[in-house]
Amino acid sequence: MNVHLSALSDSALVAELKARPLWIHQISEAQKVDGELVAKRAECATGMESEFQIDNDDCLRFRNRLCVPRNSELISVILNEAHNSRMSIHPGSTKMYNDLKCQFWWSGMKRDISDFVSKCLVCQQVKAEHQVPSGLLQPIMIPEWKWDRITMDFVSGLPLSSSKKDAIWVIVDRLTKSAHFISVRMDYSLDKLAELYISQIVKLHGVPISIVSDRDLRFTSRFWKKLQEALGTKLHFSTAFHPQTDGQSERIIQILEDMLRCCILEFGGSWERYLPLIEFAYNNSFQSSIKMAPYEALYGRKCRTPLFWTELSERKIFGVDLIKDAEQKVLIISESLKAASDRQQSYADLKRKDIKYRIGDKVFLKVSPWKKVLRFGRKGKLSPRFIGPYEISERIGPVAYRLILPPELEKIHNVFHVSMLRRYRSDPSHITSPAEIEIKSDLSY
Ligand SMILES: [Zn+2]
Repeated sequence: MNVHLSALSDSALVAELKARPLWIHQISEAQKVDGELVAKRAECATGMESEFQIDNDDCLRFRNRLCVPRNSELISVILNEAHNSRMSIHPGSTKMYNDLKCQFWWSGMKRDISDFVSKCLVCQQVKAEHQVPSGLLQPIMIPEWKWDRITMDFVSGLPLSSSKKDAIWVIVDRLTKSAHFISVRMDYSLDKLAELYISQIVKLHGVPISIVSDRDLRFTSRFWKKLQEALGTKLHFSTAFHPQTDGQSERIIQILEDMLRCCILEFGGSWERYLPLIEFAYNNSFQSSIKMAPYEALYGRKCRTPLFWTELSERKIFGVDLIKDAEQKVLIISESLKAASDRQQSYADLKRKDIKYRIGDKVFLKVSPWKKVLRFGRKGKLSPRFIGPYEISERIGPVAYRLILPPELEKIHNVFHVSMLRRYRSDPSHITSPAEIEIKSDLSY
């Protein structure tokens, strides 16, 4: 961090604290002792035409991306920060690669990232498997502008927080996929929700023209009415119901639930504390359906974090046609959304691929919360989705396996259908502690 002290002419003292990450310097130093990169640097010095360049900080870049030496400790620092920090919260590997590749480059980067994520213990215990959407999906209209068409849903049944909240209201813009997560109580009145909507959403994005909810049509229409009352408008709107779904809001809810579980497992404490950071991490990370981060779609660029340090100079803004730029972005998003919706329809026909395990393989076992009972200070919803790992001792027919279970699970019949298992990817750093949840014989807790 640098401190600037400047004495102005009217003798007022202005102190400016300016933060700058140290790792840029560390990377440029490490480049100078890496054979491959030293050669690249030498090439640059000769002024040869190349996609590699040395910037003002004496750092070698590949098309604007910082070159990180292969096999350096820095790679593990970067991977840890991009995956485990409170501003990232365990992204999947595609998301993480797309976020990191804006700023960093090293050879074998994509493989390193997918390796790192597949071995993350928290992710293995928490993440729901990608579900094949069931039933026929009907494509719904692609919105034309930001926060025109929204979806809203609730994640309910959470442990009561210290401010007595038990649910999250998830409000998503269907164009940019930017989302707000608002902690609420399930017994809030519609008046209270309308008031919250105005203070949290209307103040930032205005009034939407359509609302889609996967869960409750009656809620949506009643909410519309209350919102109009609260806005004091005498203008009448006709409200149309859209019972269709594009599956996108369900996906976002799943991401949110995964992130909540990761936070509770890793940092402990109350979910409500993490909600602002989860909202940030979600909005600032790559979403495959729009091929960029929601904040990039909404604001034109991603927000700064300690790892993604960007300094926007006036020079960079000057001369860029901001409106044209925004329209261009929206066009890209609409096209990506169309492609994503086509892709999803074809997924619906896909069958689950065959998974085979061998004796001696280690697997996680799927568990499910039962009646949201409070156990060990955690209510069902936020506990892991998988326990283990346990070793496979026998294959019983084509789709069932016997596991070696620890004594505390001896009441459970030890043969499981393959759909209950998930492969464990080991890493020497893992310390697996016994499950903190009490599992019943039907694998609920
Ligand atoms: Zn993880």
